[in-house]
Amino acid sequence: TQSLPRFRFDNRYRRLPDVFHARIHPTPVQAPRLIKLNDALADELGIELNGSEPSTLVEFFAGNQIPEGAEPIAMVYAGHQFGQFVPRLGDGRAILLGEVLDRQGRRRDIQLKGAGQTPFSRNGDGRAALGPVLREYLLGEAMHALGVPTTRALAAVTTGEPVYRETVLPGAILTRVAASHVRVGTFEYFAARGETEALRQLADHVIARHVPAAATAPQPYLALLEFVVERQAALVAAWMQIGFIHGVMNTDNMAISGETIDYGPCAFMDAYDPATVFSSIDRTGRYAFGNQPTIAQWNLARFAETLLPLIDASPESAITQASETIHSFLERYTKHWSAGMRRKLGFSTAEPEDVALIHDLLDLMATSGADFTLTFRRLGAATVSQADAGVRDLFVDRDAFDAWATGWRARLARDPASPDARVHQMQSANPAVIPRNHRVEQALQAAVEDDDFSPFERLLRVLEQPFTEQADMAEYSTPPRDDERVLRTFCGT
Ligand code: AMP
Ligand code: MG
Ligand code: MG
Repeated sequence: TQSLPRFRFDNRYRRLPDVFHARIHPTPVQAPRLIKLNDALADELGIELNGSEPSTLVEFFAGNQIPEGAEPIAMVYAGHQFGQFVPRLGDGRAILLGEVLDRQGRRRDIQLKGAGQTPFSRNGDGRAALGPVLREYLLGEAMHALGVPTTRALAAVTTGEPVYRETVLPGAILTRVAASHVRVGTFEYFAARGETEALRQLADHVIARHVPAAATAPQPYLALLEFVVERQAALVAAWMQIGFIHGVMNTDNMAISGETIDYGPCAFMDAYDPATVFSSIDRTGRYAFGNQPTIAQWNLARFAETLLPLIDASPESAITQASETIHSFLERYTKHWSAGMRRKLGFSTAEPEDVALIHDLLDLMATSGADFTLTFRRLGAATVSQADAGVRDLFVDRDAFDAWATGWRARLARDPASPDARVHQMQSANPAVIPRNHRVEQALQAAVEDDDFSPFERLLRVLEQPFTEQADMAEYSTPPRDDERVLRTFCGT
């Protein structure tokens, strides 16, 4: 008999009262096929594959078999979608198998996304299409390699069943791993119903899981708020340093853990423009690149509101305390952002004028539509050669760039770091390769239309080492030609 994979489940969220979730099993699928298994992540999670054949493994990642110890549930949550409150959303097509403690003792959720209908599916089919599943796989793994907190992909399978969107598409399931799937919207669900006791249980669960130090703080729930504000400030600052646009920063897509979650119509920017929007459903540009910090703070204010009854019995006092924490977002964000931008520009110390130098560069980039990733990568090379190493070519107004570069080089000359240390710092802050939209779309198209997964595999391999110059990477590191440019991304779901 063939041995089965073994997960060491230890499910805490499932122990919360019934109002937190619905017990539901994945709906089996016809003819599943294993597209990709993330062996390194499986190992990190302490999953024992026991030499199982792909034909065995696929049954588990398709939801046809439930691993021992799993206690499948769909989580309930609410959320503000494009500013409008929706009192009940919940996992409409995602099913949490359970939690494992990874090799470092960290608790991680294992979830099947696209596993069938749940009590929260409303009119949805509970399924996912292959394109978006591969997209989430690529983007999540790329973000991880870029050093950005994110949910990750453990496996992707096709179901052998069609899903009906605008066209008929191959169905697929993503196995998603998260520090937890608790969202701002999870808190909003109970707060909107006035269920303060459930809210407290949720907050205590999250504190035990993510912020154990808060449990013994003088004000545990204020400490929880501070933690979430700090994590989101760091997260959005990281996005802003690599040109990442989430696309749907609804409060149900904001994880309490501070991980990037729900890769829908997200995209990386090529030409720098803070007004960039890719998502076809973001008609007003609410979630444009440059709006992300403001939106994060808006979402955090919604989170803070849910905690008010826990923070202080006096509403006035609770509001005063929570407001102070929400107002600290901007300072925290700016601290993370400027520290990161200094690394990108090669500064090892902080001078007050640095911020103006950074903004001047971004302004020039915006005027020229300079490629975000290439500009910074080539600046790193320019510190070695002392020549401009091609960075100047990215600007339309070369004189303006030269004037900026003179100030930048003068600043570098005052910086104590050695040239070697400087270039090392810059090349580990400025990726050579990001998941450019046109390459992602090509990989998805080959998979969906031609059942050819080799472009997906190649792209994934390159994205796993984004800071390293790799052989044959030119096609991945160069911006799209005009005819290759992707203008819109779709939820596709
Ligand atoms: P999202 O836009 O992916 O963040 O999802 C918003 C809400 O719609 C969540 O409650 C999802 O579970 C639900 N949802 C999205 N797609 C589907 C689907 N195909 N079937 C059922 N529910 C869905
Ligand atoms: Mg979502
Ligand atoms: Mg989604």
